[in-house]
Amino acid sequence: MSFAEELRQRIAAGGISVHDYIAASNAHYYASRDPLGKAGDFTTAPEISQMFGEMVGACLADCFLRAGAPADAAYCELGPGRGTLASDALRLLRGVGFAGPTHFVETSPALRGEQEKRHPTAHWHDDVDALPERPLLVVANEFFDALPTRQFVGEQERRVVLADGAPAFAPEGAVTREESADATAIAARLAAHLARVGGAALVIDYGYAGGEQRDTLQAVRRHERVDPLAHPGEADLTTHVDFGALAEAAQDAGARTSRVISQGNWLETLGLGPRAMTLAGNNPARADDIAAQRRRLSSEEGMGTLFKVMAIHHRGWPVPAGLGQ
Ligand code: SAH
Repeated sequence: MSFAEELRQRIAAGGISVHDYIAASNAHYYASRDPLGKAGDFTTAPEISQMFGEMVGACLADCFLRAGAPADAAYCELGPGRGTLASDALRLLRGVGFAGPTHFVETSPALRGEQEKRHPTAHWHDDVDALPERPLLVVANEFFDALPTRQFVGEQERRVVLADGAPAFAPEGAVTREESADATAIAARLAAHLARVGGAALVIDYGYAGGEQRDTLQAVRRHERVDPLAHPGEADLTTHVDFGALAEAAQDAGARTSRVISQGNWLETLGLGPRAMTLAGNNPARADDIAAQRRRLSSEEGMGTLFKVMAIHHRGWPVPAGLGQ
């Protein structure tokens, strides 16, 4: 039986929660393809320009140095996609003497294959619990938004049911609350690790600082928004990340969290502008492209405002650059 038929049967046999629908759809989706880039379904910041990974790398390199350059530190990424961000960030980290291993938390066999091409000596894990007992320099870009979320209409949990032969949401009515226990549980376990062993994590994602009361579920296929119920397992399903909830979970687990700022503000504070100028100076024929990439990463019309950045760190480690009060 195909994935779509099996899911349809589950929906027909009484319905499933939106949480379980997202979990099943994304597990199939990510396991069966590389969804990134022009030929795929969506393009992430590291796939737009090397400058994104360089800013992440510069921020982690600065943290690493200010923390006293612990020799046992490791680079770690949650949901590393094609491994592009890791390549760009590690170039900066290696430049300041970081010599530690690379650890990836990744469940998709297809994407593990892509990552292995660029990082043949990396270590892979299914879960943050398996990360090594070392100080960690962590980045999670567009990872938390792919995790399943519960939705509520008033007190009732929203479900996917069969109505007149087609999948539909029930009960009808506006979503009043979303709750991603999967995301907060991972943030808490990561934070407990950082609080115990040391390190800092940069969380970068679509999202809001807290208090949103609406439906943020969206599906993207071939670079277009589509109906979330129309292509189960064949479209990328995301919800916006509640940074306030992640921060609370991380603090409860013993770590510190930074303020939440927009991606555009953060990248420009870290020096995206001067970096774009240097790159353009070295590649005059690409100057227009590089300027366009910078705008896409940091302008309000691009990813600059919708995407947010927050750090989770050990209390003895510095607040990562650009995220202090
Ligand atoms: N960070 C990359 C890719 C983002 S797409 C980039 O910026 O380009 C989301 C990534 O998270 C993919 O690598 C996907 O396979 C991975 N992923 C999704 N759900 C996961 C889960 N539950 N556990 C581990 N990895 C997951």
